[in-house]
Amino acid sequence: MALSVHPGTVFAVPDTLPSLRELLATAVTAVGGAERPGQVEMAEAVDASIRTGDHLAVQAGTGTGKSLAYLVPAVRHAVANGSTVVISTATIALQRQLVDRDLPRLAKALAKPLKRTPTFAILKGRRNYLCLHRLDGGPQDEPEDQALFDPFAISRLGREVTRLREWVSDTETGDRDELVPGVSEQAWRQVSVSARECLGASKCPMGTDCFAEKARAEAGRADIVVTNHALLAIDALQGYQVLPEHDVVIVDEAHDLVDRVTSVATGELSAAMVSIASRRVGRLVEEDRADRLNECGDGLAMLLEDVPTGRLDTIPEPLRVTITAIRDAAHHCVSSLGPERGADADVVAARKLAMSLLEEVHDNAVRVLEAFDTDDAHRRDVVWITGDYGSNTPRPPTLKVAPLGVAGLLREKLFGENTTILTSATLTLGGSFDALARQWGLPGQSAGEKVDGMASEKEVAPDSIRWTGIDVGSPFDHAKSGILYTARHLPPPGRDGLPEAYLAELKSLVEAAGGRTLGLFSSMRAAKNAAAELRERTDVEILCQGDDSTSLLVKKFAENPQTCLFGTLSLWQGVDVPGPSLSLVVMDRIPFPRPDDPLASARQRAVEARGGNGFLSVAATHAALLLAQGAGRLLRSMDDRGVVAILDPRLATARYGGFLRASLPPFWPTTDAEVVRAALRRLDDAAN
Ligand code: SF4
Repeated sequence: MALSVHPGTVFAVPDTLPSLRELLATAVTAVGGAERPGQVEMAEAVDASIRTGDHLAVQAGTGTGKSLAYLVPAVRHAVANGSTVVISTATIALQRQLVDRDLPRLAKALAKPLKRTPTFAILKGRRNYLCLHRLDGGPQDEPEDQALFDPFAISRLGREVTRLREWVSDTETGDRDELVPGVSEQAWRQVSVSARECLGASKCPMGTDCFAEKARAEAGRADIVVTNHALLAIDALQGYQVLPEHDVVIVDEAHDLVDRVTSVATGELSAAMVSIASRRVGRLVEEDRADRLNECGDGLAMLLEDVPTGRLDTIPEPLRVTITAIRDAAHHCVSSLGPERGADADVVAARKLAMSLLEEVHDNAVRVLEAFDTDDAHRRDVVWITGDYGSNTPRPPTLKVAPLGVAGLLREKLFGENTTILTSATLTLGGSFDALARQWGLPGQSAGEKVDGMASEKEVAPDSIRWTGIDVGSPFDHAKSGILYTARHLPPPGRDGLPEAYLAELKSLVEAAGGRTLGLFSSMRAAKNAAAELRERTDVEILCQGDDSTSLLVKKFAENPQTCLFGTLSLWQGVDVPGPSLSLVVMDRIPFPRPDDPLASARQRAVEARGGNGFLSVAATHAALLLAQGAGRLLRSMDDRGVVAILDPRLATARYGGFLRASLPPFWPTTDAEVVRAALRRLDDAAN
């Protein structure tokens, strides 16, 4: 929950504190770096944003030193005003870098000039901390249907819960990430609670020792609180006060904000959920009410078996009737549970556990039904059925309901309540912040001037929100350090796997580079096929995502220059391998969303229904962001050199190609394969 400081509030920093430039210079010296112009520009822009209350979006390329550029003004503001600044990241890797490396060094370096040591804390969602009340004999969760009949699953679960009981006497934080090796999700659920299920510290017999409460209390005393986008979204959108009071939010890895917020705002409804809810409530209300809910769950299970997976544009009548019955049965159970009574913590906890799932079932049923109330142009939510969709492990069919956009939520709950600074190496697409600003609910910056082919979705954000977008550039000389190769001579990619011409091209590039290749594929199937084919055709070692844990594969790839690593989505954004182990990034095709991606296709239809160009607004924006992130894997340190090769001629030939190319770093462009192979051979020779 934010402080009631309206954005636009002007903060003053006491004269007794050193200037921003002095503090930044001290911090940079302490971490052993050199002052960089982009870093100074960014730090001054962040400082100005905090002082004036105008929001800020800063694009800062790899090597800018952007974490110090926002941490220094953030710490200075927090110390000067006795307030807290929240820093949110998308990945655990960045969270660890901030908490384990950047902040300890910064706190030490700034302690003397600030006349006290700045403090910081990390805060995660309640589910990440062990719940002592649950562990102490609070209500256990009902096993899922399949686990009920699987003796191996039950004994494994028992062993894991026993291990968790032993761990509690060793851990000081109860933080799941500190448990090595980890336990299954099902075991962890037996010893943790969601914010909805928690009894509240004042009512809980374990409240004074509670790990989650201690973490919150520590965060409340800290100058800087590091968290993740999901918790930021829960705090802003769902009305639980999970973050301490704060007046400034800095969102790093902001290119991922919309996806993470969308995940938090996505609900689901399945037969298993309904059945567990009926079992949880079974002992607390009249038997016939719980039985009725259970019957409705059985009805849903049977119906979902017959409805094909994918997006639902209309709701079949039998499904509508069944979901209406679930909604009403859940509502009756909630009414029967009635208000909280009595002081027995176990009874209160059992009621809370039942109530939280019943409310989820009820609310998601309402959302699914309401999603079909309006036409395409005005729909707020999209509904689809998952099963095997997008997954290698079959799951029982589940209804999902997700918002078509989160712009309104972010505008009201994030930008409306805090001064917000967004940063990433990739925030401009087609040379403009407009595409992402639109998704965040901020007004566009360009007055109608757009790169050829860009969309014309009607503006939704009011101009009253003041924000600035700046690109502080990159220390790399992209045109001298990298080549952007588009394989214009190849046929456009089709649906039937990788054709021979692609495989021959890939082999020739990999061999010219002597390994050193990160292959980014649009699907796991394409990555596996390419790995299998190349293993037949070349002696270069090919690692493929899924063969081992991704972190181990990346480590092996980084340590052995003569290897290649092929994979899909998580590698597009998560690989950081400086040096000669990586001199070629290959992308098999422009990463448009799959045509059957329910959310992207529904967003596209909604834009079209409002008179915009859905393909360009949704699919091209998605592809541009991923292309820029993928291309960003190439140059990670000042001495890096190499090639980004895109085996999709549409980058050079399609109308939208201009927008996509303008979203990439300014590498030297070519379509000449021989020039590229010669450059890769030279790099390989120089590295050997
Ligand atoms: S306060 Fe909530 S999270 Fe903490 S021990 Fe009690 S029930 Fe568990």
